[in-house]
Amino acid sequence: MSKAGVVNLLDLPPLQVTGWLQTFDTVISDCDATLWHDDVAIPGAADVLNLLQRRFGKRVYLITNNGTKTRQEIFERSQRLGFELASEAQIISPTSTIVNYLRQSDKFDGKKQRVYVVGNAAIERELSGAGIESFGAGKPEQLDIKWQDFVEREFSTPTAAVDVGAVVVGWDEHYSYCKMARACHILTANPDCAFLTTNKDAVHKYPAYHIPGTGAFVAGIEACAEREALEMGKPNPLVLEPLLKGSALDVKRTLMVGDCLKIDVSFARNCGMQSLLVGTGSYQLETLHALQADSSASNPLVPDVYLPKLGDLLPYI
Ligand SMILES: [Mg+2]
Repeated sequence: MSKAGVVNLLDLPPLQVTGWLQTFDTVISDCDATLWHDDVAIPGAADVLNLLQRRFGKRVYLITNNGTKTRQEIFERSQRLGFELASEAQIISPTSTIVNYLRQSDKFDGKKQRVYVVGNAAIERELSGAGIESFGAGKPEQLDIKWQDFVEREFSTPTAAVDVGAVVVGWDEHYSYCKMARACHILTANPDCAFLTTNKDAVHKYPAYHIPGTGAFVAGIEACAEREALEMGKPNPLVLEPLLKGSALDVKRTLMVGDCLKIDVSFARNCGMQSLLVGTGSYQLETLHALQADSSASNPLVPDVYLPKLGDLLPYI
C-alpha cells in the first residue's frame, strides 16, 4: 500500500481488500478505543478477530498500554466481550512486559531485591504472581507527618534504597511529593536500579476534559532523578521481544491495528509492521487529512490503511 496518502479500505475494490488480507499472518490489535470502550465492545471487532483466526488461520494478539490491570484481568475482559483467545499468552500488557524484563535482567535479583511501585495495585499483583516482592503500589505514601519528617525518617539510613532493584511507575491516583522523593532517592542512590514505566502516554483526552496520564507522572521523576525511564509499552519495540525471541511472528507479515497515530502507528513503524488505523478513537479520516495538510515533517506518521471501525472488515472475511 502507498504511504503517500491515507488509503481507506472501503474505497478499494473488494478483490483488492481480499488480496490485502493475504499480506499478513499475524494481527496485533490495540484494545482501548480499537476493540472496546471501557467494558463495552465496539460492534463487529470481536467478530473480525475471531473470523480471521477461524477462517484464515491468522494469529491474533491483543496489546495494551493499560497498566491498571494485570494481563490475566485484561484476558478476562476480552473473554467477557466475546474475543476468542486460547489463553492470556495472547495478551501483551505493560505489567507482563515488566515481569519479563525483570526476569531476564542481569542486574535484578528477584530473590534478594524488591520493586518500588509508584502506581496502582495491578502492578503489585502481576509482580507478586511472578514471585517478585514489591511495595508502594495502590496507596499513598505516609500522610500523617510533614514531608521534611518523612524524608528524614525514610531516607537517612543506608538501607533505604539498598534492597530495591527496580522503580516502576504506572498510573497512580495517589501520586505525591513523597512518592517522587522516594523514587528519586532510590534511583540516585543506586545507579544499577532499573527505572521502568508502563507507558509514557502523557494525557488522557476526553471530549469534555484532558487529564494527566502516566507519562506526566514519570516525567516528574525523570526530571528530579536525572534518569530516563524505560517504557514497557507501545511504541517501544522492546515490547515485542518475547514474541520475536520465540519466533511467534514475522514483523513483515504482521498487521498492527490501533486507534492512535502517535502510539499505535508509531509502534508499527518502529517494529517494521504494517498498520491499520481505525476511526473509533481520536483520529478519523478528516483528522488525518488535516494533519497531512498541516504537517511540515519530512516523514509524517501515516497509517498504511484506514477503516472507520475494525468491524467494517466483516464483509471481506
Ligand atoms: Mg487505543
